[in-house]
Amino acid sequence: MAKVLGIIGGGQLGMMITEAASKMPEHISKIIVLDPTENCPASQAGAEQIRADFKDKDAIIELSEKSDIITYEIESGDSDVLKYAERNAEINPSPETLKIIQDKLLQKSFLKDNDIPVARFIEVRDIGCVRAGLKEFGYPALLKARRDAYDGRGNFKIGSEDDIQEAFDYFKGQSLLLEKFVEFKMEVSVIASRNTKGQIRTYPLVENIHEDNILRMTIAPARVTEEIARNAELIASKTMTVLKGAGVFGIEMFVTQNDEIIINEIAPRVHNSGHHTLQSSETSQFEQHLKAILGLELGSTRLLHPTIMYNILGSKSFEGKYRPIDLSEPNVYLKMYGKEVSKPLRKLGHFNLVARDNETVEQLLAKIETLKEKMETKPL
Ligand code: AMP
Repeated sequence: MAKVLGIIGGGQLGMMITEAASKMPEHISKIIVLDPTENCPASQAGAEQIRADFKDKDAIIELSEKSDIITYEIESGDSDVLKYAERNAEINPSPETLKIIQDKLLQKSFLKDNDIPVARFIEVRDIGCVRAGLKEFGYPALLKARRDAYDGRGNFKIGSEDDIQEAFDYFKGQSLLLEKFVEFKMEVSVIASRNTKGQIRTYPLVENIHEDNILRMTIAPARVTEEIARNAELIASKTMTVLKGAGVFGIEMFVTQNDEIIINEIAPRVHNSGHHTLQSSETSQFEQHLKAILGLELGSTRLLHPTIMYNILGSKSFEGKYRPIDLSEPNVYLKMYGKEVSKPLRKLGHFNLVARDNETVEQLLAKIETLKEKMETKPL
């Protein structure tokens, strides 16, 4: 029997999950999203919407009463409320998995305890812990908020003793951890999936280019040796084995100067660095996520052709309605998220540039340079 799927969050990720679900009517009859924004992206793709804050307990319970399965596109959900909602609907990834992942300290400790490589870190209970950590693993280091931090907003780099007080005060009493700064060669990620029956599949390693701490571009495949790629994919598989969560996960990693792989962070959801799969793979990450939480056989993750995903971000210089982005170029697949208003660095859409006729990643990158200007948002 086809199921009703509830999604906490109806932004672009919820939108693309909704679009994938509409192609699986035999498994999913309806999507309901919980999102505070009127006419949120997922509702534009046909999802019903409960308009409320992501953390609104009553709204989450209402969603669970109306759904057979619940998933989420944001990791800041209240895992205790979700645990309660589990009496009404199956929740995947489970609230237990979410609880580990949404706290960077629990997440890193969990990975370390399972012999999965992470940067050195310590829990910070007071400023004395910061000093002790710096003594132990030296400068530079990053002071990080344990929870509710993304796109680099919850990090403060400590370069010398002079920065310690300012860094500590910056977080105004939030729970923190201190982490050794990794002089990485490259930022990479693996989109990994695990279905409710334990089947695991990983997509090939991709390379991520950030600007202003926000993902600008993903290059599939990553420009690394086969050995590095294999190692990263094995570490991702191992992570999925121990984590036991069902769904798609974005596993962000660093390639160190010695070509080692270190996990930076796991997202318990479909991930921006997996958007290329819409065109580069037989199974998109959104379809894979649905297969995973429904307990269906996972789809192929093979990369069909090199692809670059480029994020269309709001201009830093204005906030407001923006001129429609127009891009019709061969082998370019534009996806706008239906957001009316641009804000500085807001994710408004993306495009995938797909290689044809044995084009190389370098050739694709040169093409991206010629398209960048057309992608700038301008006031309407
Ligand atoms: P986060 O929000 O913790 O994932 O970090 C955002 C960005 O900060 C990452 O994409 C990295 O560029 C950088 N970063 C995070 N942790 C470290 C680290 N331990 N060493 C160096 N850079 C880091």
